[in-house]
Amino acid sequence: MPQLTARATGRDLLRCRRCGTEFPEGRATEDGWHYACPTDGCDAAGIGDGLKRVE
Ligand SMILES: [Zn+2]
Repeated sequence: MPQLTARATGRDLLRCRRCGTEFPEGRATEDGWHYACPTDGCDAAGIGDGLKRVE
């Protein structure tokens, strides 16, 4: 399961579906569970909802 390995390293790149910003997974979460776009003024949140993983 490559995705589990990538998740464990915390190096996945995420892209915001709303503003299009790309950022490392670590910037989008503080607790490793709830994810939100770090861009000021953007309230997109949730992997698969507001954010998507970049392959
Ligand atoms: Zn955003």
